[in-house]
Amino acid sequence: MTFSGPAPAQTRHVVFWVRPPVRQVRSLNSTGFRGGAQNVVGRQPQVVTPLRWRQSNSLLALAALVLPLFACGGSTSSAPVAPTPAPPAATAPTVNGRAVDVFSTAPLAAVTVRLQNSAAATTVADGSFSISTASGQYAVVVLTGTGIVERQTGIRVPGPDALVTLIPTTFDLAAFDQMCRAAPGQLRRWDAAPKLVVIDAVLQFTSTTDSAYTATAERLSPTEREGMVADLTWGLPQATGDTFRAFSAVTIESPEVGAQVPFFTREGTIVVARFLGLQAATGYHGYGRWASRSNVVVAGAIMVDRNQDAAAGMNLRALRVHEMGHALGYDHVAMSTRVSFMNNSGVILPNAFDRDATRLAFLRPPGNLSPDRDPDLYSANFRSFPMVWGPITP
Ligand SMILES: [Zn+2]
Repeated sequence: MTFSGPAPAQTRHVVFWVRPPVRQVRSLNSTGFRGGAQNVVGRQPQVVTPLRWRQSNSLLALAALVLPLFACGGSTSSAPVAPTPAPPAATAPTVNGRAVDVFSTAPLAAVTVRLQNSAAATTVADGSFSISTASGQYAVVVLTGTGIVERQTGIRVPGPDALVTLIPTTFDLAAFDQMCRAAPGQLRRWDAAPKLVVIDAVLQFTSTTDSAYTATAERLSPTEREGMVADLTWGLPQATGDTFRAFSAVTIESPEVGAQVPFFTREGTIVVARFLGLQAATGYHGYGRWASRSNVVVAGAIMVDRNQDAAAGMNLRALRVHEMGHALGYDHVAMSTRVSFMNNSGVILPNAFDRDATRLAFLRPPGNLSPDRDPDLYSANFRSFPMVWGPITP
C-alpha cells in the first residue's frame, strides 16, 4: 500500500514558529485545495532555528577576540570592550495566504484582507497576501473586494499558509441559502461519505414519523435493487460536488416478512426503501429526511412510493436523487429562485448550479452563515494534528 500524501520527511511536526514579516510575495502551490473544509496549502513552514543566532554570536565572539589584537598595536588607550550582541528585534508573527475563486481557483487580486485589530493587507496579482499581528494565536479575518462575496473566517497567526476561497458575486447565493443553509440559517452537511442500505422488502407505509416499518412479502428484483443502487451511486457525486465519489459501503437488507425494520435510526447511513401506500396516504411520490448534530448530517432516509418506484420512467432517477438530496441535508429550492434538483417537483437532475452549490457546501465548515461567515474559532489555516502513536505496551 502506498500513500499519496507528503513524504515522512515533510511531516509537519513543527506547527508553531515565528519569523520576521515577509514583505515579498511568494506564490503558493495549490495542493490540498479540494480537501473539504480544511483548505490548507500543503507548503512547509520555514522554521527559523536558533542556528542563525548561534552563528551570529560566534562571529561576534570571534570579533571580540580579534579586535584586541588590532588594538594592541602600541596604543595606550584603554582596553577594548567586546560589544554585547544585540538581541533579535521583536517581530510581529506573520501568516501568508492566497485568495482564490472558490469555483475556478483563479487567483484574486486587490482583495482587502483585514485582521481584527490590525492593519489590512491587499492581495497582489497571484492572490497572495502576508499579514502580521502582535496579538495571539487566533484572529478573525475579513476579506472584501470587487466581485466577491465578503468572507469572514478565522486564522491562526502565526500559522501555516492559508488558502482562502471566495465566492463570486455572480453565484446564486439565494438559491444556495435555500438549499444548504435553510432554517436556522447555518450550513448543514455530512462530513464523511455515508453508507447506503437498500431494503429489498417493500415496507408497509403507516406514517412519515415512525421509527420502524413492517416488511411485506413483496421483494425488489435483483434488477430493481441494482437500479436503485446505480441511481443513488450516480447521484452521490452529483449531489456533493464530487466530494463523495461513492458510498462508504453498500448493503442490501432482506428482512423477514412481518419484521419491524428500523428506519429513522441508522447513524452514518442513508437507508432507502419502497413503501406500499405512501402516495395513497400522502399524495407524494417520495420523502427524504436527514438527522444532524451540530450542523453535521449524521443520518439520512429515503422513502419512495412502491407504485411510482416500480414503474420505470424517465423521472425515476431524478426522484430518487432528489430524495437523496434531503438525506444529504438539503432543503427545497423554490422553482422561482433557480432550477435545481432540489425543486420540489423532484423531476430535475442535478445541473451546473447544483454541482457548484454542493461543492461549495463541502468547502465550508458546517455552521457557515450567509453570506459567507465561518463559525467562531474555525481557522482557515488550521491543519489537524498528525496522528502520533503512543508507547507500545504489553
Ligand atoms: Zn423534496
